Amino acid sequence: VFNTVAQAPADVIFSLTAGYKADKHPQKINVGVGAFRTDELKPYVLPVVKKADTILFNNADLDHEYLPIAGEPSYTRAATKLILGDNSPAIAQGRTGAVQTISGTGANHTGAAFLAAHFKGSGKVYISNPTWANHRNIFASLGFDVQEYPYWHPATKSLDYEGMINTIREAPSGSIFILHPCAHNPTGVDPTQEQWKGIADAMREKNQFTFFDCAYQGFASGDLDKDAWAVRYFVEQGFELFVAQSFAKNFGLYGERAGNLTFVCKTPEDTKRVLSQFEKLQRSEISNPPAYGSRIVDIVLNDPALYAEWKENLKYMSSRIIDMRQKLYQHLVDLKTPGTWNHIVDQIGMFSFTGLKAPQVKVMIEKYHIYLTDNGRISMAGLSNSNVEYFARAVDDVVRN
Ligand code: PMP
Repeated sequence: VFNTVAQAPADVIFSLTAGYKADKHPQKINVGVGAFRTDELKPYVLPVVKKADTILFNNADLDHEYLPIAGEPSYTRAATKLILGDNSPAIAQGRTGAVQTISGTGANHTGAAFLAAHFKGSGKVYISNPTWANHRNIFASLGFDVQEYPYWHPATKSLDYEGMINTIREAPSGSIFILHPCAHNPTGVDPTQEQWKGIADAMREKNQFTFFDCAYQGFASGDLDKDAWAVRYFVEQGFELFVAQSFAKNFGLYGERAGNLTFVCKTPEDTKRVLSQFEKLQRSEISNPPAYGSRIVDIVLNDPALYAEWKENLKYMSSRIIDMRQKLYQHLVDLKTPGTWNHIVDQIGMFSFTGLKAPQVKVMIEKYHIYLTDNGRISMAGLSNSNVEYFARAVDDVVRN
């Protein structure tokens, strides 16, 4: 039965990590995977998560029953409020609903599966070029025709705003656009608020469907509201839309798979029917979402003191990343490395798109034992006060030679 099954390519990011783990070089660096690390390059359990853990396990009533199909309402409501804002009129008007998902990947997948079944559009989905590699996998596996919109402008190392807008205008009406509201993966380049307004105008003119994928709220600027600005603006402008949320990065709950998909409809009646279809879909896919990670998030988001503490934890993570950006930039300037490097400090969030080309990346890996993807993307959290200079010297060498 299985002798005609073709070998699938290995996942690029997870293969890089395997290469890094097998490498015995004392100065090896892993800037491939997008997971936060402390300055000692250790995984970080947020102190507020430890507190929520204690609360959870001291709860004598805790059981291991199934969660409701669409997830725990106090969790999905809190997640929706986090992204749309405490005073969102759409929430007050009963036009929002949500389904708890298997982290951000599940939120993308569940939203995509719903659209495949119920959205009468062009059948085309537009993802940014470049983007998180899974966007293509997820939408292509559901039968969508996956196209790209320009995003990164290599010459200016910034947003190709014109290219993006033109594609929104030229795409057939009723196409789905996957937009990253903050801390774009992999480039770290986000539209300005003015540019978001232009994007919203173009989306409205052509009646395109907005699917936000928000995996880094609070990570980009350390400010949860600022990072949600684009989503809230679109909702304010009357768009019906989906927002995928992941709590992998901002809660450090990577393996616990806590996610959410919020949807905003025109009327409460539409919202009810849409939710019923999400429940039907979820039942056939996972029956009920996993409970542990979402319970942690639920506890923190619904307790004002813990919520305030979470914001402090977020500030620590975002400031460490910003600090590494500044140090890397300064080393490159001090080394007089050819080229301009201000994009390192201008970009935001977990990643930086260095501009290194695939042959240079090959040398980074083989000569310097520094592991990064061949598009030149680095996770800033893989750098530390002890390795940033070594990293900068390696960049300097590959750029000169
Ligand atoms: N979307 C984007 C753009 C991401 O970068 C990520 C994390 N790499 C995700 C979604 C979802 O990841 P997870 O399933 O781990 O929440």
